[in-house]
Amino acid sequence: MYINGIWKTSEGTFAVFNPANGNKVGDAVDGSRADAREAIDAAHAAFPAWSSSTAYARADILLKAYSLMIEQKQALAELMTTEQGKPLKAALNEVQYAADFLRWFAEEAKRNYGETIPSARADQRFMVRYQAIGVVAAITPWNYPISMITRKVAPALAAGCTIVLKPAEATPLCAQAVFKILEEAGVPEGVANLVTCEDPVEIGKEFCSNKKVKKITFTGSTAVGKMLAADAAPQLKRVSMELGGHAPFIVFEDADPVHAAKGASLVKFLNTGQACISPNRIFVHRSILDSFLKTFTARIEKMNAGDGMSATTSIGPLVNEAAVDKVATQVEDALNKGAKLHHGGERLLAGDLSKGHFYAPTLISDVNDEMRIYREETFGPVAAVIPFDDYDEVIAMANDTDFGLAAYVYTNNLSTAMRAFEALNFGIIGINDINPTSAAAPFGGMNESGLGREGAREGLAEYLETKLGGFSI
Ligand code: NAD
Repeated sequence: MYINGIWKTSEGTFAVFNPANGNKVGDAVDGSRADAREAIDAAHAAFPAWSSSTAYARADILLKAYSLMIEQKQALAELMTTEQGKPLKAALNEVQYAADFLRWFAEEAKRNYGETIPSARADQRFMVRYQAIGVVAAITPWNYPISMITRKVAPALAAGCTIVLKPAEATPLCAQAVFKILEEAGVPEGVANLVTCEDPVEIGKEFCSNKKVKKITFTGSTAVGKMLAADAAPQLKRVSMELGGHAPFIVFEDADPVHAAKGASLVKFLNTGQACISPNRIFVHRSILDSFLKTFTARIEKMNAGDGMSATTSIGPLVNEAAVDKVATQVEDALNKGAKLHHGGERLLAGDLSKGHFYAPTLISDVNDEMRIYREETFGPVAAVIPFDDYDEVIAMANDTDFGLAAYVYTNNLSTAMRAFEALNFGIIGINDINPTSAAAPFGGMNESGLGREGAREGLAEYLETKLGGFSI
Protein backbone atom coordinates (compact mmCIF):
# COMPACT_ATOMS: atom_id res chain seq x y z
CA MET A 1 0.00 0.00 0.00
CA TYR A 2 1.11 3.55 -0.60
CA ILE A 3 0.03 5.98 2.13
CA ASN A 4 1.34 9.51 2.58
CA GLY A 5 4.27 8.83 0.26
CA ILE A 6 5.37 5.65 2.06
CA TRP A 7 5.08 2.04 0.85
CA LYS A 8 3.64 -0.04 3.69
CA THR A 9 4.59 -3.71 3.66
CA SER A 10 4.45 -4.76 7.29
CA GLU A 11 0.88 -6.06 7.66
CA GLY A 12 -0.84 -9.30 6.64
CA THR A 13 -0.85 -10.17 2.97
CA PHE A 14 -3.02 -12.02 0.47
CA ALA A 15 -1.95 -13.98 -2.59
CA VAL A 16 -2.74 -13.06 -6.18
CA PHE A 17 -3.16 -15.85 -8.76
CA ASN A 18 -2.89 -16.06 -12.55
CA PRO A 19 -6.39 -16.92 -13.87
CA ALA A 20 -4.87 -18.79 -16.85
CA ASN A 21 -3.03 -21.41 -14.80
CA GLY A 22 -3.63 -20.89 -11.08
CA ASN A 23 0.02 -20.02 -10.42
CA LYS A 24 0.74 -17.50 -7.70
CA VAL A 25 1.76 -14.14 -9.18
CA GLY A 26 2.60 -12.35 -5.94
CA ASP A 27 1.31 -10.99 -2.66
CA ALA A 28 -0.41 -7.75 -1.77
CA VAL A 29 -0.79 -6.05 1.59
CA ASP A 30 -4.14 -6.76 3.24
CA GLY A 31 -5.15 -3.29 4.38
CA SER A 32 -7.64 -2.57 7.16
CA ARG A 33 -10.24 0.07 7.83
CA ALA A 34 -7.64 1.85 10.01
CA ASP A 35 -5.31 1.98 6.99
CA ALA A 36 -8.09 3.51 4.89
CA ARG A 37 -8.63 6.14 7.63
CA GLU A 38 -4.89 6.88 7.72
CA ALA A 39 -4.86 7.29 3.93
CA ILE A 40 -7.88 9.62 4.06
CA ASP A 41 -6.16 11.70 6.77
CA ALA A 42 -3.07 11.95 4.55
CA ALA A 43 -5.15 13.00 1.54
CA HIS A 44 -6.98 15.55 3.68
CA ALA A 45 -3.72 17.05 4.96
CA ALA A 46 -2.30 17.22 1.42
CA PHE A 47 -5.38 18.87 -0.09
CA PRO A 48 -4.77 22.59 0.72
CA ALA A 49 -1.33 22.71 -0.90
CA TRP A 50 -2.23 20.49 -3.88
CA SER A 51 -5.48 22.28 -4.70
CA SER A 52 -3.78 25.66 -4.58
CA SER A 53 -0.82 24.60 -6.74
CA THR A 54 -1.04 25.83 -10.33
CA ALA A 55 -2.73 23.78 -13.00
CA TYR A 56 0.59 23.97 -14.87
CA ALA A 57 2.45 22.29 -12.02
CA ARG A 58 -0.16 19.53 -11.76
CA ALA A 59 -0.16 19.06 -15.53
CA ASP A 60 3.64 18.65 -15.58
CA ILE A 61 3.43 15.81 -13.07
CA LEU A 62 0.65 14.06 -15.01
CA LEU A 63 2.62 14.41 -18.25
CA LYS A 64 5.66 12.90 -16.56
CA ALA A 65 3.46 9.99 -15.40
CA TYR A 66 2.24 9.60 -18.99
CA SER A 67 5.81 9.36 -20.31
CA LEU A 68 6.79 6.85 -17.63
CA MET A 69 3.76 4.69 -18.40
CA ILE A 70 4.60 4.66 -22.11
CA GLU A 71 8.25 3.82 -21.34
CA GLN A 72 7.12 0.91 -19.14
CA LYS A 73 4.36 -0.24 -21.48
CA GLN A 74 5.73 -3.71 -22.18
CA ALA A 75 6.42 -4.56 -18.54
CA LEU A 76 3.05 -3.23 -17.41
CA ALA A 77 1.25 -5.21 -20.12
CA GLU A 78 3.07 -8.41 -19.16
CA LEU A 79 2.13 -7.88 -15.52
CA MET A 80 -1.50 -7.29 -16.56
CA THR A 81 -1.65 -10.45 -18.67
CA THR A 82 -0.19 -12.48 -15.82
CA GLU A 83 -2.47 -11.03 -13.18
CA GLN A 84 -5.69 -10.50 -15.15
CA GLY A 85 -5.42 -12.90 -18.11
CA LYS A 86 -6.10 -10.84 -21.25
CA PRO A 87 -3.88 -11.53 -24.29
CA LEU A 88 -0.68 -9.49 -24.31
CA LYS A 89 -1.72 -7.46 -27.37
CA ALA A 90 -4.94 -6.41 -25.62
CA ALA A 91 -2.95 -5.57 -22.48
CA LEU A 92 -0.60 -3.35 -24.53
CA ASN A 93 -3.66 -1.55 -25.93
CA GLU A 94 -5.03 -1.06 -22.44
CA VAL A 95 -1.78 0.46 -21.14
CA GLN A 96 -1.88 2.94 -24.03
CA TYR A 97 -5.53 3.76 -23.21
CA ALA A 98 -4.60 4.18 -19.53
CA ALA A 99 -1.71 6.51 -20.38
CA ASP A 100 -4.00 8.53 -22.66
CA PHE A 101 -6.04 9.61 -19.61
CA LEU A 102 -2.89 10.96 -17.93
CA ARG A 103 -2.05 13.04 -21.00
CA TRP A 104 -5.62 14.18 -21.73
CA PHE A 105 -6.23 15.39 -18.16
CA ALA A 106 -2.79 17.04 -17.99
CA GLU A 107 -4.02 19.11 -20.92
CA GLU A 108 -7.53 19.66 -19.51
CA ALA A 109 -6.16 20.82 -16.11
CA LYS A 110 -5.23 24.11 -17.79
CA ARG A 111 -8.69 24.55 -19.31
CA ASN A 112 -10.69 24.72 -16.10
CA TYR A 113 -12.13 28.06 -17.19
CA GLY A 114 -14.62 30.00 -15.09
CA GLU A 115 -17.40 32.31 -16.27
CA THR A 116 -18.73 35.81 -15.77
CA ILE A 117 -22.49 36.25 -15.99
CA PRO A 118 -24.30 39.55 -16.71
CA SER A 119 -26.41 40.71 -13.78
CA ALA A 120 -29.78 42.51 -13.93
CA ARG A 121 -28.33 44.99 -11.42
CA ALA A 122 -25.97 47.66 -12.72
CA ASP A 123 -23.92 47.55 -9.50
CA GLN A 124 -23.48 43.77 -9.49
CA ARG A 125 -21.04 41.36 -11.14
CA PHE A 126 -21.32 37.55 -11.12
CA MET A 127 -18.28 35.34 -11.34
CA VAL A 128 -18.30 31.54 -11.38
CA ARG A 129 -15.24 29.46 -10.57
CA TYR A 130 -14.89 25.71 -10.56
CA GLN A 131 -12.75 24.42 -7.72
CA ALA A 132 -11.55 21.02 -6.52
CA ILE A 133 -14.12 19.10 -4.49
CA GLY A 134 -11.67 17.78 -1.87
CA VAL A 135 -10.65 14.25 -0.89
CA VAL A 136 -11.84 11.58 -3.36
CA ALA A 137 -12.28 7.90 -2.48
CA ALA A 138 -12.10 5.61 -5.52
CA ILE A 139 -12.89 1.91 -6.02
CA THR A 140 -11.91 0.15 -9.27
CA PRO A 141 -12.56 -3.27 -10.89
CA TRP A 142 -10.23 -6.04 -12.12
CA ASN A 143 -11.31 -6.25 -15.77
CA TYR A 144 -9.38 -3.15 -16.90
CA PRO A 145 -6.96 -2.99 -13.97
CA ILE A 146 -4.80 -0.06 -15.13
CA SER A 147 -7.03 2.15 -17.28
CA MET A 148 -9.87 2.20 -14.74
CA ILE A 149 -7.36 3.65 -12.26
CA THR A 150 -5.98 6.41 -14.46
CA ARG A 151 -9.50 7.29 -15.63
CA LYS A 152 -10.17 8.37 -12.01
CA VAL A 153 -6.76 9.43 -10.68
CA ALA A 154 -5.84 11.66 -13.65
CA PRO A 155 -8.94 13.92 -13.58
CA ALA A 156 -8.97 14.03 -9.77
CA LEU A 157 -5.35 15.19 -9.64
CA ALA A 158 -5.82 17.56 -12.58
CA ALA A 159 -8.75 19.22 -10.79
CA GLY A 160 -6.69 19.67 -7.62
CA CYS A 161 -8.30 16.88 -5.60
CA THR A 162 -6.36 14.37 -3.53
CA ILE A 163 -7.31 10.69 -3.70
CA VAL A 164 -7.39 7.35 -1.89
CA LEU A 165 -7.85 4.37 -4.21
CA LYS A 166 -8.85 0.79 -3.45
CA PRO A 167 -8.30 -1.54 -6.42
CA ALA A 168 -10.01 -4.91 -6.96
CA GLU A 169 -8.65 -7.77 -4.87
CA ALA A 170 -7.90 -9.78 -8.05
CA THR A 171 -5.53 -7.13 -9.47
CA PRO A 172 -3.69 -5.21 -6.73
CA LEU A 173 -0.29 -5.65 -8.42
CA CYS A 174 -1.30 -3.59 -11.46
CA ALA A 175 -2.49 -0.89 -9.05
CA GLN A 176 0.87 -0.94 -7.26
CA ALA A 177 2.64 -0.49 -10.57
CA VAL A 178 0.51 2.57 -11.40
CA PHE A 179 1.22 4.16 -8.01
CA LYS A 180 4.97 3.52 -8.42
CA ILE A 181 4.70 5.58 -11.60
CA LEU A 182 2.82 8.36 -9.81
CA GLU A 183 5.50 8.39 -7.10
CA GLU A 184 8.29 8.53 -9.68
CA ALA A 185 6.48 11.30 -11.57
CA GLY A 186 6.69 13.47 -8.44
CA VAL A 187 3.14 13.36 -7.03
CA PRO A 188 3.64 14.89 -3.56
CA GLU A 189 3.13 12.76 -0.47
CA GLY A 190 -0.49 12.30 0.59
CA VAL A 191 -1.88 13.44 -2.79
CA ALA A 192 -2.44 9.92 -4.19
CA ASN A 193 -2.81 6.99 -1.80
CA LEU A 194 -3.33 3.28 -2.45
CA VAL A 195 -5.02 0.88 -0.03
CA THR A 196 -5.16 -2.78 -1.10
CA CYS A 197 -7.23 -5.41 0.69
CA GLU A 198 -8.75 -8.85 0.24
CA ASP A 199 -12.21 -8.03 1.62
CA PRO A 200 -13.47 -4.61 0.48
CA VAL A 201 -16.47 -4.24 2.80
CA GLU A 202 -14.88 -2.38 5.73
CA ILE A 203 -12.88 -0.05 3.52
CA GLY A 204 -16.02 0.74 1.51
CA LYS A 205 -17.77 1.64 4.77
CA GLU A 206 -14.92 3.94 5.81
CA PHE A 207 -14.96 5.68 2.43
CA CYS A 208 -18.71 6.30 2.62
CA SER A 209 -18.87 7.40 6.27
CA ASN A 210 -15.67 9.44 6.73
CA LYS A 211 -16.56 13.13 6.69
CA LYS A 212 -13.22 14.08 5.16
CA VAL A 213 -14.19 12.25 1.95
CA LYS A 214 -16.15 14.57 -0.32
CA LYS A 215 -16.61 12.30 -3.31
CA ILE A 216 -16.97 8.58 -4.03
CA THR A 217 -16.08 7.38 -7.52
CA PHE A 218 -16.77 3.73 -8.30
CA THR A 219 -16.49 1.37 -11.27
CA GLY A 220 -17.95 -2.08 -10.85
CA SER A 221 -21.23 -3.93 -10.59
CA THR A 222 -24.59 -2.19 -10.35
CA ALA A 223 -25.39 -4.01 -7.09
CA VAL A 224 -22.29 -2.71 -5.29
CA GLY A 225 -22.63 0.74 -6.87
CA LYS A 226 -26.17 1.13 -5.55
CA MET A 227 -25.05 0.07 -2.09
CA LEU A 228 -22.16 2.54 -2.03
CA ALA A 229 -24.39 5.36 -3.32
CA ALA A 230 -26.88 4.62 -0.54
CA ASP A 231 -24.11 4.54 2.08
CA ALA A 232 -22.76 7.88 0.82
CA ALA A 233 -26.22 9.50 0.83
CA PRO A 234 -26.50 10.50 4.53
CA GLN A 235 -23.62 12.96 4.07
CA LEU A 236 -24.72 13.88 0.54
CA LYS A 237 -21.29 13.03 -0.80
CA ARG A 238 -20.85 13.51 -4.53
CA VAL A 239 -20.88 10.18 -6.37
CA SER A 240 -19.81 8.98 -9.81
CA MET A 241 -20.89 5.47 -10.73
CA GLU A 242 -19.68 3.48 -13.75
CA LEU A 243 -21.70 0.29 -13.49
CA GLY A 244 -22.83 -2.74 -15.44
CA GLY A 245 -24.25 -2.91 -18.94
CA HIS A 246 -26.32 -5.05 -21.26
CA ALA A 247 -25.44 -3.66 -24.67
CA PRO A 248 -27.70 -4.26 -27.66
CA PHE A 249 -25.93 -4.72 -31.01
CA ILE A 250 -28.40 -4.07 -33.84
CA VAL A 251 -27.77 -5.16 -37.43
CA PHE A 252 -30.35 -3.59 -39.75
CA GLU A 253 -31.37 -5.22 -43.02
CA ASP A 254 -29.38 -2.79 -45.17
CA ALA A 255 -26.10 -3.47 -43.33
CA ASP A 256 -23.40 -5.69 -44.75
CA PRO A 257 -23.90 -8.86 -42.64
CA VAL A 258 -20.29 -9.97 -43.12
CA HIS A 259 -18.87 -6.64 -41.96
CA ALA A 260 -21.32 -6.54 -39.03
CA ALA A 261 -20.51 -10.12 -37.97
CA LYS A 262 -16.79 -9.33 -38.00
CA GLY A 263 -17.41 -6.27 -35.82
CA ALA A 264 -19.72 -8.11 -33.46
CA SER A 265 -17.31 -11.02 -32.98
CA LEU A 266 -14.41 -8.64 -32.27
CA VAL A 267 -16.23 -6.56 -29.65
CA LYS A 268 -18.08 -9.50 -28.09
CA PHE A 269 -14.92 -11.44 -27.26
CA LEU A 270 -12.82 -8.47 -26.22
CA ASN A 271 -11.40 -9.29 -22.79
CA THR A 272 -13.26 -12.65 -23.01
CA GLY A 273 -16.55 -10.74 -22.83
CA GLN A 274 -15.57 -9.21 -19.49
CA ALA A 275 -16.26 -5.63 -20.50
CA CYS A 276 -19.10 -3.40 -19.36
CA ILE A 277 -19.66 -2.37 -23.00
CA SER A 278 -19.74 -5.95 -24.29
CA PRO A 279 -22.77 -6.74 -26.52
CA ASN A 280 -25.14 -8.90 -24.52
CA ARG A 281 -27.97 -9.08 -27.08
CA ILE A 282 -27.17 -9.17 -30.78
CA PHE A 283 -30.29 -8.29 -32.79
CA VAL A 284 -30.02 -9.29 -36.46
CA HIS A 285 -32.64 -8.61 -39.14
CA ARG A 286 -34.18 -11.93 -40.16
CA SER A 287 -33.42 -11.37 -43.86
CA ILE A 288 -29.63 -11.44 -43.28
CA LEU A 289 -29.50 -13.77 -40.27
CA ASP A 290 -28.03 -16.80 -42.06
CA SER A 291 -25.20 -14.85 -43.60
CA PHE A 292 -24.45 -13.13 -40.27
CA LEU A 293 -24.35 -16.44 -38.37
CA LYS A 294 -22.16 -18.06 -41.02
CA THR A 295 -19.50 -15.34 -40.82
CA PHE A 296 -19.71 -15.14 -37.01
CA THR A 297 -19.26 -18.94 -36.70
CA ALA A 298 -16.27 -18.88 -39.06
CA ARG A 299 -14.63 -16.13 -36.94
CA ILE A 300 -15.24 -17.99 -33.68
CA GLU A 301 -13.78 -21.19 -35.10
CA LYS A 302 -10.46 -19.41 -35.56
CA MET A 303 -10.28 -18.26 -31.92
CA ASN A 304 -7.69 -19.84 -29.74
CA ALA A 305 -8.17 -19.91 -25.97
CA GLY A 306 -5.13 -20.02 -23.73
CA ASP A 307 -2.56 -18.19 -21.66
CA GLY A 308 -2.44 -14.56 -22.81
CA MET A 309 1.37 -14.65 -22.86
CA SER A 310 1.33 -17.04 -25.81
CA ALA A 311 1.39 -15.33 -29.21
CA THR A 312 -1.25 -17.73 -30.57
CA THR A 313 -3.84 -16.89 -27.89
CA SER A 314 -6.74 -14.74 -28.99
CA ILE A 315 -9.03 -15.32 -26.00
CA GLY A 316 -7.97 -15.52 -22.37
CA PRO A 317 -9.48 -16.99 -19.21
CA LEU A 318 -12.35 -15.69 -17.11
CA VAL A 319 -11.50 -14.11 -13.78
CA ASN A 320 -12.50 -17.03 -11.54
CA GLU A 321 -14.65 -20.18 -11.26
CA ALA A 322 -17.71 -18.19 -10.19
CA ALA A 323 -17.55 -16.35 -13.52
CA VAL A 324 -17.30 -19.67 -15.43
CA ASP A 325 -20.30 -21.00 -13.48
CA LYS A 326 -22.36 -17.91 -14.27
CA VAL A 327 -21.65 -18.21 -17.99
CA ALA A 328 -22.35 -21.97 -18.00
CA THR A 329 -25.64 -21.43 -16.16
CA GLN A 330 -26.82 -18.77 -18.61
CA VAL A 331 -25.99 -20.95 -21.63
CA GLU A 332 -27.67 -24.01 -20.10
CA ASP A 333 -30.77 -21.96 -19.29
CA ALA A 334 -30.96 -20.60 -22.85
CA LEU A 335 -30.48 -24.02 -24.46
CA ASN A 336 -33.12 -25.57 -22.18
CA LYS A 337 -35.55 -22.87 -23.29
CA GLY A 338 -35.01 -23.44 -27.01
CA ALA A 339 -31.91 -21.48 -28.05
CA LYS A 340 -29.81 -23.01 -30.81
CA LEU A 341 -26.10 -23.70 -30.23
CA HIS A 342 -23.76 -22.90 -33.15
CA HIS A 343 -20.42 -23.10 -31.41
CA GLY A 344 -18.88 -23.62 -27.96
CA GLY A 345 -21.24 -24.05 -25.05
CA GLU A 346 -18.76 -25.81 -22.77
CA ARG A 347 -15.95 -25.32 -20.29
CA LEU A 348 -12.51 -25.82 -21.79
CA LEU A 349 -10.64 -28.45 -19.82
CA ALA A 350 -8.20 -29.98 -22.30
CA GLY A 351 -4.53 -30.07 -21.24
CA ASP A 352 -3.27 -26.98 -19.42
CA LEU A 353 -6.63 -25.21 -19.84
CA SER A 354 -7.94 -27.27 -16.92
CA LYS A 355 -5.64 -25.30 -14.59
CA GLY A 356 -7.34 -22.00 -15.50
CA HIS A 357 -10.86 -20.60 -15.74
CA PHE A 358 -11.72 -21.16 -19.40
CA TYR A 359 -15.05 -21.23 -21.20
CA ALA A 360 -15.31 -21.74 -24.96
CA PRO A 361 -16.25 -18.75 -27.11
CA THR A 362 -19.90 -19.48 -27.73
CA LEU A 363 -22.57 -18.52 -30.26
CA ILE A 364 -26.27 -19.16 -29.63
CA SER A 365 -29.25 -17.97 -31.66
CA ASP A 366 -33.04 -17.91 -31.29
CA VAL A 367 -32.60 -16.19 -27.93
CA ASN A 368 -35.77 -14.69 -26.46
CA ASP A 369 -36.92 -12.69 -23.45
CA GLU A 370 -37.72 -15.79 -21.37
CA MET A 371 -34.00 -16.55 -21.08
CA ARG A 372 -31.75 -15.20 -18.31
CA ILE A 373 -29.14 -14.04 -20.81
CA TYR A 374 -31.73 -11.66 -22.29
CA ARG A 375 -31.67 -9.56 -19.08
CA GLU A 376 -28.65 -10.56 -16.97
CA GLU A 377 -25.20 -9.23 -17.75
CA THR A 378 -23.13 -12.22 -18.94
CA PHE A 379 -19.60 -10.86 -18.51
CA GLY A 380 -18.29 -13.81 -20.48
CA PRO A 381 -17.69 -15.13 -24.02
CA VAL A 382 -21.25 -15.82 -25.14
CA ALA A 383 -22.82 -14.17 -28.18
CA ALA A 384 -26.62 -14.30 -27.97
CA VAL A 385 -28.38 -13.63 -31.29
CA ILE A 386 -32.01 -12.55 -31.53
CA PRO A 387 -33.81 -12.16 -34.90
CA PHE A 388 -36.05 -9.16 -35.56
CA ASP A 389 -38.33 -7.94 -38.36
CA ASP A 390 -38.80 -4.18 -38.12
CA TYR A 391 -37.30 -0.94 -36.80
CA ASP A 392 -39.84 -0.13 -34.06
CA GLU A 393 -39.76 -3.67 -32.73
CA VAL A 394 -35.96 -3.76 -32.40
CA ILE A 395 -35.66 -0.31 -30.81
CA ALA A 396 -38.27 -1.33 -28.22
CA MET A 397 -36.46 -4.60 -27.51
CA ALA A 398 -33.07 -2.86 -27.29
CA ASN A 399 -34.40 -0.31 -24.79
CA ASP A 400 -36.16 -3.00 -22.75
CA THR A 401 -33.46 -3.19 -20.07
CA ASP A 402 -32.66 -1.48 -16.77
CA PHE A 403 -29.11 -0.87 -18.04
CA GLY A 404 -28.11 1.94 -20.38
CA LEU A 405 -24.36 1.93 -21.00
CA ALA A 406 -23.38 1.03 -24.58
CA ALA A 407 -25.27 0.16 -27.77
CA TYR A 408 -24.13 -0.59 -31.32
CA VAL A 409 -25.93 -0.03 -34.61
CA TYR A 410 -24.95 -1.36 -38.05
CA THR A 411 -26.72 0.21 -41.02
CA ASN A 412 -25.87 1.81 -44.35
CA ASN A 413 -28.87 4.10 -44.19
CA LEU A 414 -28.06 7.54 -42.77
CA SER A 415 -31.61 8.16 -41.68
CA THR A 416 -31.82 4.82 -39.81
CA ALA A 417 -28.47 5.56 -38.16
CA MET A 418 -29.59 8.98 -36.95
CA ARG A 419 -33.02 7.80 -35.80
CA ALA A 420 -31.51 4.89 -33.86
CA PHE A 421 -28.83 7.13 -32.33
CA GLU A 422 -31.56 9.40 -30.99
CA ALA A 423 -33.98 6.66 -29.91
CA LEU A 424 -31.66 4.34 -27.99
CA ASN A 425 -31.47 5.03 -24.24
CA PHE A 426 -27.77 4.39 -23.83
CA GLY A 427 -24.85 6.66 -22.94
CA ILE A 428 -22.44 5.41 -25.61
CA ILE A 429 -23.53 4.43 -29.12
CA GLY A 430 -21.28 2.99 -31.80
CA ILE A 431 -22.66 3.52 -35.31
CA ASN A 432 -20.92 1.05 -37.63
CA ASP A 433 -18.18 1.36 -35.00
CA ILE A 434 -17.15 -1.10 -32.31
CA ASN A 435 -14.79 1.15 -30.37
CA PRO A 436 -16.59 4.39 -29.45
CA THR A 437 -14.23 5.07 -26.52
CA SER A 438 -11.33 7.47 -26.02
CA ALA A 439 -9.85 9.61 -23.24
CA ALA A 440 -11.31 12.59 -25.13
CA ALA A 441 -14.88 11.22 -25.23
CA PRO A 442 -17.42 11.07 -22.37
CA PHE A 443 -17.90 7.50 -21.12
CA GLY A 444 -20.81 6.53 -18.89
CA GLY A 445 -24.28 5.15 -18.65
CA MET A 446 -27.92 6.03 -18.30
CA ASN A 447 -30.44 4.41 -15.94
CA GLU A 448 -28.90 1.67 -13.76
CA SER A 449 -25.60 1.79 -15.65
CA GLY A 450 -24.49 4.74 -13.60
CA LEU A 451 -24.18 8.39 -12.79
CA GLY A 452 -21.69 10.83 -14.28
CA ARG A 453 -19.14 10.52 -17.06
CA GLU A 454 -15.43 9.71 -17.24
CA GLY A 455 -12.96 11.05 -19.78
CA ALA A 456 -13.54 14.21 -21.84
CA ARG A 457 -14.37 17.66 -20.43
CA GLU A 458 -17.13 16.02 -18.38
CA GLY A 459 -14.56 13.80 -16.66
CA LEU A 460 -12.85 16.83 -15.12
CA ALA A 461 -16.15 18.43 -14.09
CA GLU A 462 -16.92 15.37 -11.93
CA TYR A 463 -14.16 16.51 -9.56
CA LEU A 464 -15.08 20.21 -9.47
CA GLU A 465 -17.48 22.18 -7.33
CA THR A 466 -19.23 25.25 -8.75
CA LYS A 467 -18.74 28.45 -6.74
CA LEU A 468 -20.61 31.67 -7.50
CA GLY A 469 -19.35 35.08 -6.46
CA GLY A 470 -21.80 37.99 -6.47
CA PHE A 471 -19.80 41.26 -6.32
CA SER A 472 -21.47 44.54 -5.49
CA ILE A 473 -19.28 47.31 -6.93
P1 NAD B 1 -17.71 -5.62 -8.17
O1 NAD B 1 -18.72 -4.58 -7.98
O2 NAD B 1 -17.86 -6.89 -7.43
O3 NAD B 1 -16.26 -5.10 -7.78
C1 NAD B 1 -15.76 -3.87 -8.22
C2 NAD B 1 -14.97 -3.25 -7.11
O4 NAD B 1 -15.84 -3.05 -6.00
C3 NAD B 1 -13.81 -4.08 -6.59
O5 NAD B 1 -12.75 -3.22 -6.25
C4 NAD B 1 -14.36 -4.70 -5.33
O6 NAD B 1 -13.38 -4.98 -4.37
C5 NAD B 1 -15.26 -3.58 -4.84
N1 NAD B 1 -16.32 -4.02 -3.94
C6 NAD B 1 -17.08 -5.14 -4.01
N2 NAD B 1 -17.94 -5.19 -2.97
C7 NAD B 1 -17.72 -4.07 -2.24
C8 NAD B 1 -18.29 -3.55 -1.04
N3 NAD B 1 -19.26 -4.19 -0.39
N4 NAD B 1 -17.82 -2.37 -0.58
C9 NAD B 1 -16.83 -1.72 -1.22
N5 NAD B 1 -16.26 -2.16 -2.35
C10 NAD B 1 -16.70 -3.32 -2.85
O7 NAD B 1 -17.63 -5.83 -9.73
P2 NAD B 1 -16.77 -6.86 -10.51
O8 NAD B 1 -17.50 -8.11 -10.66
O9 NAD B 1 -15.40 -6.94 -9.96
O10 NAD B 1 -16.64 -6.07 -11.89
C11 NAD B 1 -17.50 -6.30 -12.93
C12 NAD B 1 -18.59 -5.26 -13.01
O11 NAD B 1 -18.05 -3.98 -13.23
C13 NAD B 1 -19.50 -5.51 -14.18
O12 NAD B 1 -20.85 -5.35 -13.82
C14 NAD B 1 -19.10 -4.45 -15.18
O13 NAD B 1 -20.08 -4.15 -16.11
C15 NAD B 1 -18.71 -3.33 -14.31
N6 NAD B 1 -17.80 -2.42 -15.00
C16 NAD B 1 -18.27 -1.21 -15.39
C17 NAD B 1 -17.47 -0.33 -16.07
C18 NAD B 1 -17.99 1.00 -16.50
O14 NAD B 1 -17.21 1.86 -16.80
N7 NAD B 1 -19.28 1.22 -16.52
C19 NAD B 1 -16.14 -0.67 -16.35
C20 NAD B 1 -15.68 -1.92 -15.95
C21 NAD B 1 -16.53 -2.78 -15.26
